[in-house]
Amino acid sequence: MSSGKSVMSDDNSSSLADTYITPTYDRSLMLVKGRGSTVWDAQGKSYIDLLSGVAVCSTGHCHPAVVAAIRKQAGELIHCSNHFYVPGQGELAQQLALITGLSHVFLANSGTEANEAALKLARVRTGKKQFIAFENGFHGRTKGSLACTYKPQIREPFGPFTTECTFLPYGNAEILQQAINDETAAVIVEPVLGEAGVIIPQDGFLRQVREICDEKQVLLIVDEIQTGMGRTGRWLACEHEGVTPDIVTLAKGIASGFPLGAMVSKEGLAFAPGEHGGTYNGGPLACAAALASLMIIEDLLPDVERKGELFRRALIDYHPRVKGLMIGITVGDRCRDIRDRCRDRGVLVNCAGNGNIRLLPPLVITDDEITTAIGIIREVIDDIV
Ligand code: PLP
Repeated sequence: MSSGKSVMSDDNSSSLADTYITPTYDRSLMLVKGRGSTVWDAQGKSYIDLLSGVAVCSTGHCHPAVVAAIRKQAGELIHCSNHFYVPGQGELAQQLALITGLSHVFLANSGTEANEAALKLARVRTGKKQFIAFENGFHGRTKGSLACTYKPQIREPFGPFTTECTFLPYGNAEILQQAINDETAAVIVEPVLGEAGVIIPQDGFLRQVREICDEKQVLLIVDEIQTGMGRTGRWLACEHEGVTPDIVTLAKGIASGFPLGAMVSKEGLAFAPGEHGGTYNGGPLACAAALASLMIIEDLLPDVERKGELFRRALIDYHPRVKGLMIGITVGDRCRDIRDRCRDRGVLVNCAGNGNIRLLPPLVITDDEITTAIGIIREVIDDIV
């Protein structure tokens, strides 16, 4: 720091980021304010946000109850470490146990950390080293979860991995049945492939995976980091199939943007003292933000599938894939063009997988906002494709 005076200004902040932030991200806009489903850029232009910070801001941007909970907690205790009981942790863990139907909660700071915890737990309790994941699945970027993330471009440069993972075709239970062997610790699966562009398996797939894991006595880890916390109209997407995992991982929508992840495991499947941990995990602010978020999401849940159907009906010409408020449309190699033109017209969408527009709107989005946003998306697609 040169002078101690503030170096933050909207105008130069993005060029400083381009200079000093290691160039992992491709971005074009600086957002400085958000309320509900609307965000504003540094020039004051508003956008309907159909990405929600990648399925994070489910309660909308800066929901007053979340803001109040964080403010209140910040005035009392920001951090104390896990050497002490942390305010809100017990209450949050109880809520997550009720939501998942499971028993033991490990709190983390992100989705990838929640998956690291799941993989470590499966490794240490089963004594086995091998995992099965699925083609086009995404589980995170740290080395354990990356080992189970399919996309060769982001995984292979960082090998070798000590987590041994085999990838099978998503949606094919027969191949899974044959692939599991005595060395398999667990199967890790997303109920809907999110990063791949909202790929929904046939009804019954997750149930078959559950049955095969039971039959072969291997653990089932369901990664609900993107699909969970109400995104598909149930707390967990696996509820649509009546499946209870052995381990479920959560993050994204759990705390409205305050970093938090969670790994929840069944009765009798837990870490022993000292086996895992983290300085910031489940801090007071994260717990306060999550507890406030859960109450809001509970009220929003009954309307999520109806809103998803509004998207489906209005986008029917483009054959959308819809599960609650996870929506994917295949548009091919003009995806970025469509994304950028939607942005210019005040709607934020995202490209995921190969040529898919992905919509993950806040669960608070209104019918009017849906109508306006879809009108623009349709015009842009019709103009370009
Ligand atoms: N798992 C799934 C299904 C995800 O969609 C993501 C992120 O997109 C992750 C794991 C990783 O979460 P995070 O980016 O918080 O580490």
